[in-house]
Amino acid sequence: MRIGMIAPPGAGKGTQSALIAAHFNIPHICTGEILRDHVKRGTATGRVVSGYLDRGELVPDEVLCDTVHQALNDVIAAGGDFVLDGMPRTMDQARAIHRVSTELGMAADVVLHLKADDETVRQRMLARAAVEHRSDDTEPVIERRLALYHQMTEPILAWYAFRGILVTVDATRTAAEVGREILGVLEVLRPVIRNVPEKMRRPVDLTMLTPAMAQRG
Ligand code: AMP
Repeated sequence: MRIGMIAPPGAGKGTQSALIAAHFNIPHICTGEILRDHVKRGTATGRVVSGYLDRGELVPDEVLCDTVHQALNDVIAAGGDFVLDGMPRTMDQARAIHRVSTELGMAADVVLHLKADDETVRQRMLARAAVEHRSDDTEPVIERRLALYHQMTEPILAWYAFRGILVTVDATRTAAEVGREILGVLEVLRPVIRNVPEKMRRPVDLTMLTPAMAQRG
C-alpha cells in the first residue's frame, strides 16, 4: 500500500501512521520527526530548521526536499510502499510529490484524511505538551499551526477527493477506534485499489456514519 496522510496538527497522524506502517510492514516517513531529529542532533539542517519548528512555520521546500531525499531512497529500496506522514502541507508540495511518485510508478493509492475540529486538537496538543515537551505545543504556536493547516493544507483535500483517492475518517474518537476503522478500510481496499481505473475511483467519507449511527441509537 502507498498511503498519504492529511490531518490538522494533533489529530493523531503520527500514531495512526505508525500503526499502519507496523500492520502492513511498510516504511513510515514522518517529515516532522525527521526534522526534529536533525534539531536534536544539532546538524546543519537542524540549525536551519529549528526556528521554523519553534514558530510553527513551514520549513522551506528546498530544505525539506534535501531532508526527505534519504527517506525516499529507503522507500524505493524497500519496494515502493510507504506511509507518508506530514507531507504534503501545500498544494505545491502535493503537485511535486505527485509528479515524482508517478514518474517512479509509486503514486499514492489512498490518502487518509483524519478529520478533527480545532477545539479537539487544541486540547490534545496542550495535553501532549505536558508529556512530550515539544517546542511547538504552546498556545500561540498551536494557533499558528492550525491557521497554516486551514490556509495551506486543507485546500489539497479537494484535489485528492476529485481524484477519488481520499478516505475521510472521524479522528475525534479514541486512537483505538480510529485505528480499527483505518485498518479495516485499508484491508478492504488493498486487494482491489490498483485494479480500479482512476476515473472510476471515488472519495469515501466515513465521518457521515457517526451522526447517522448516533441517531439510530
Ligand atoms: P508535524 O510533526 O507533522 O506536526 O510537523 C512539525 C513541524 O515540522 C511543522 O510545524 C513544520 O515546521 C515542519 N514540517 C513538517 N512537515 C513539513 C512539510 N511538509 N513542509 C514544511 N514544513 C514541515
